[in-house]
Amino acid sequence: MTAPAPWERAARGAMLLDGAGRAAPTVFAEMSALAARTGAINLGQGFPDEDGPRVVLDAAHAALDAGLNQYPPGRGRPELLEAVAEHQRRFYGIELDPRREVLVTAGATEALAATVLALVDDGDEVVTLEPFYDAYGAVIGLAGGVHRTVPMRGAEFAVDHAELRAAFSDRTALVIVNDPHNPTGTVLDAATRQLVVDLARRHDAVLVTDEVYEHLLFDGAAHVPLSTLPGAAERTLSVSSGGKTFSTTGWKIGWLTGPEHLVSKVMTVKQYLTFVNGSVFQPAIAVGLGLPDEWFAGLAAGLQRKRDVLADGLAAAGFSVAPSRGGYFVVADAAPLGFSDAADLCRRLPELAGVVGVPVSAFCHEEAAVEHASRIRFAFCKRTEVLERAARQLAALRV
Ligand code: PMP
Ligand code: GLN
Repeated sequence: MTAPAPWERAARGAMLLDGAGRAAPTVFAEMSALAARTGAINLGQGFPDEDGPRVVLDAAHAALDAGLNQYPPGRGRPELLEAVAEHQRRFYGIELDPRREVLVTAGATEALAATVLALVDDGDEVVTLEPFYDAYGAVIGLAGGVHRTVPMRGAEFAVDHAELRAAFSDRTALVIVNDPHNPTGTVLDAATRQLVVDLARRHDAVLVTDEVYEHLLFDGAAHVPLSTLPGAAERTLSVSSGGKTFSTTGWKIGWLTGPEHLVSKVMTVKQYLTFVNGSVFQPAIAVGLGLPDEWFAGLAAGLQRKRDVLADGLAAAGFSVAPSRGGYFVVADAAPLGFSDAADLCRRLPELAGVVGVPVSAFCHEEAAVEHASRIRFAFCKRTEVLERAARQLAALRV
């Protein structure tokens, strides 16, 4: 058996350094490096291969030329705080005080890290779904927390309500819910959303939502933030980011919204992580958040077409493809093609098909990694001709 890659150990919380004392790359960094090295099509790391709206890019240029090149205020530039509050009102009917209940962060990543560091003490438990976005496991470990997971089972990644209940205890400090979900592409159903809120209330836990894919729902579905459910708002911190919505993943402009007493706690930590970031990008994301409703609808419709191209191509290539209802990703099972170890297949995929994907096991602790062993996450936030080429190349796996 080959030794596990550093990211496999890191994702499972065993260590963040490799055997030689070097920082272990994340699975995304390793897979992007593999694509760059081999020239394979990179459907691994989730980032678009086209620019987002011109007005947003122009606004960043304008801010730079206007001299917004020094530290912005610690909480964020006022126009972005206002734009986030207005966005929450426009799309979800959530009323926020932009000066007290909104915090700008260095991407959703910092919002999540600062939240966990602020609210989790040694030995406190944090509940997430599994598979989970890799940063959750890492930051829970950094905070000294205990990571409890709820398995998403079967070909459709269903959440069993008894297992959800069993993950909570009186030590649960936090529950982090990512919806739409990376890596599975699932969207929570109403009953599961309600149960998460009920359990958080019963166990007096803070609810943290990771909504970075909030505008990328397909087939006519609308995003429902957990904080809009009865009894949720007073205990929910909602996290999002401009990266996916405006195809600016490198800008790292995120935000957190919620009750002032919780946002303030997170801000105390955030002040000593980055303090601030992205002075010229903050006003540009504010412009993006103000784009008309039709622009947001067009974004989801365009991505849905890309999802269809890739999902159909994967099915034609012989994979068993899980439905993707939101986000950047579709999960394809390689078992019907005779591959049982997707981590191994992903390392060989550049050579076999000229494509890079990420094994779902990289989002799992050891036990769940077994259940998802033959599954691969592919990103479809790429140009249609790139997706079509990837699908044609993957068809070569069948023989
Ligand atoms: N949460 C999820 C579920 C993600 O997929 C990502 C990455 N794209 C992030 C958080 C990080 O977002 P950001 O780039 O804004 O830090
Ligand atoms: N969120 C991106 C993904 O899931 C990766 C971001 C990163 O590289 N950390 O692919």
